[in-house]
Amino acid sequence: MIGIPDSALVLLIGASGSGKSSFALRHFDAQTVISSDQLRGALTGDEADQHATDAAFGRLHRWLDARLAAGSLAVVDATNTEWMRRTELVRKARQHGRPAIAIALDLPLDLCLARNAARRRTVGAAVIRRQHDELRRSLERLDLEGFSAVHILRSDGEIDGVVVQIEKGPAARAL
Ligand code: ATP
Ligand code: MG
Repeated sequence: MIGIPDSALVLLIGASGSGKSSFALRHFDAQTVISSDQLRGALTGDEADQHATDAAFGRLHRWLDARLAAGSLAVVDATNTEWMRRTELVRKARQHGRPAIAIALDLPLDLCLARNAARRRTVGAAVIRRQHDELRRSLERLDLEGFSAVHILRSDGEIDGVVVQIEKGPAARAL
């Protein structure tokens, strides 16, 4: 069981094709989730347009500031395999006094590649390979990055079987 305080920042972490957006759709209300792909799509009409990455992350940070300031749950659906990106986000949670929770989807590279190839929108195999390498390196250091909890899901079975429970914090209980 993954318990998540309802004022937390949740980082989904995984290579393209590992199932982050599917996981978000299944476990979280849509209004709590921000996706870097959707932001790119909103900015350029193309979710895969990497030129829009900086602008997309600018918007992501502004959205996060608003959610965290309001004490609302915020789920970031982006690969988050680069430690620099994660560090910026965890710092933001800390600035607002909110816990940050990591959920990493550690699936085999071949499965990510196969799932990606089967999709309408595909990401280059070399990009997925790099993300997967970054993820594997990240797994050892996630515990040192300031998260209040780190959850690593290592198989399809674990991902499909996991229960996510949103826990009401003191502020929400008092209302
Ligand atoms: P990206 O970083 O490119 O947005 P993603 O991590 O969000 O990728 P998804 O789009 O959620 O990945 O999933 C990739 C593909 O894998 C989709 O076609 C989806 O239907 C399939 N998939 C995702 N999760 C599962 C699962 N638990 N079991 C079977 N298929 C899955
Ligand atoms: Mg996605």
